[in-house]
Amino acid sequence: MQQALHRSSLVPRGFVVESANYEGDKAVIAVRASRSVGVCPSCGTVSRRVHSHYRRLVTDLPLSGRIVQLLVVARRFRCDAVLCGRQIFTERFAEGVLAPSARRTARVEFIVHHLGLALGGRPAACFAKRLSLPVSKDTLLRVVRRRSRPPVDPLRVIGIDDWAWRRNHRYASIICNLEKRRIAALLPDRELATAQAWLVAHPAISIVARDRGGGYGEAAARALPHAVQVADRWHLMENASRAFLDAVRKSMRQIRTVIGATTIDPKLLSAAERLQYEGYQRREETNAAILVLSKSGLPIKQIVRQTGHARNLVRHVIRGERNDVFRTRQSSLDMHLPWLDDQWASGCRNGAELWRRLKAQGFRGSLRVISEWATRRRRAERADTQNVRRIPSARTIARLMTVGRDLLTKAETVTVAVLEAGVPTLVEAREIIAEFHMMIRRKLEAGLSSWIERAGVSLVASFANGVVRDEVAVRAAITSPWSNGQTEGQITRLKLVRRQMYGRGKIDLLQARLIGAE
Ligand SMILES: [Zn+2]
Repeated sequence: MQQALHRSSLVPRGFVVESANYEGDKAVIAVRASRSVGVCPSCGTVSRRVHSHYRRLVTDLPLSGRIVQLLVVARRFRCDAVLCGRQIFTERFAEGVLAPSARRTARVEFIVHHLGLALGGRPAACFAKRLSLPVSKDTLLRVVRRRSRPPVDPLRVIGIDDWAWRRNHRYASIICNLEKRRIAALLPDRELATAQAWLVAHPAISIVARDRGGGYGEAAARALPHAVQVADRWHLMENASRAFLDAVRKSMRQIRTVIGATTIDPKLLSAAERLQYEGYQRREETNAAILVLSKSGLPIKQIVRQTGHARNLVRHVIRGERNDVFRTRQSSLDMHLPWLDDQWASGCRNGAELWRRLKAQGFRGSLRVISEWATRRRRAERADTQNVRRIPSARTIARLMTVGRDLLTKAETVTVAVLEAGVPTLVEAREIIAEFHMMIRRKLEAGLSSWIERAGVSLVASFANGVVRDEVAVRAAITSPWSNGQTEGQITRLKLVRRQMYGRGKIDLLQARLIGAE
């Protein structure tokens, strides 16, 4: 069934259209209230006695790409109630239609609020203009601030963490409602007293998830002594892995002795590289000699006379500007290396033959370059099997011994095997850390006490001591379903919104935008 479109259906409910005109790109619609009576806002008495009329111009939703302005012809009524202090009152409109002295209808205000929440001041103002909703960026922000309501749902389970307002400069705190997966509040700093004051005002909180270290644990203990504290699982896992890395670092001296060589083995170099290496060694010796003389207090002039080196060189060495690193050079070959590797792998290991094939591909270098590469390759392979290469970094060793264990190359397998045989304390530390990870993953809280005992006398004792200091919260982290992982996610969202604001928004506006509307 078709229905005729009434003019009054285009304006908010409760209004009657008197006239409608275009003025340039605007549609001006004169309206009045459909009710004939007014209700006194002070005493609630209904009044029919009109005192006078006045006009309000308010913005409404656009119509066919035109800005719409409602010219509201409103009335003033007299209040006849004897005991009412108010003699005259202005006409009020229905809740959710037009607020007293508003410049926009409630339905426009709603859109403006959400534009401000989603985009922030300036971008939202640009976008609103395209929607034929003229509104300034200041107005947008004002609406966002004014309409922000702190969430009313009761807080029982919260996560609290800090985030960088300006990295290394200023930090703020975020509190999340973990049950509702919403931000509950932003605090301007991460001081113990600030967090404590906020927590005291929310006594219904029974579970607090927080990371280890920092004052949040203490603030929660003081403000909500009965609340259960949960250490953050992710940080626990991360700290445990870091503890193993520290154990590796502590054992580096042993590792070096076990793995062997610590310097470049000249036997592994090609003839040209050996010449370079000898030059490098000569330079290092010169440097050392000059430095010894300089340390003994000899003036530069004297050193120059004694060693016969140039004055400039001596000065460079003393200033520490002549420390070079030994590198092998193979630039003309670089782009052909993948091809050469393929050939090598498929069994072609004759330098001359490789050079002939490479030349057919446009290689301009001499035979010597290729045969030296082949020699180096052969030596490297031999060295690989003998396992006397350079010592990997502590980080690499930690990785090889833990997460990378299933993906080791042949040489790495040998390294790890040598390590495991030579540094048993490190193997023990690895097992202890793996056990800790397992406890958290599988929620095996019962093993914690014996774990603490065992870990306390191992290479990761300091991590174990940290766990002891925070034992109740760590236990809760193993058993509790709540975790601060969610809070980290909210921090990511917060940073995104802040970046949209070009990092300039104040904390109340940021909070208004993040907490926003239901
Ligand atoms: Zn009244």
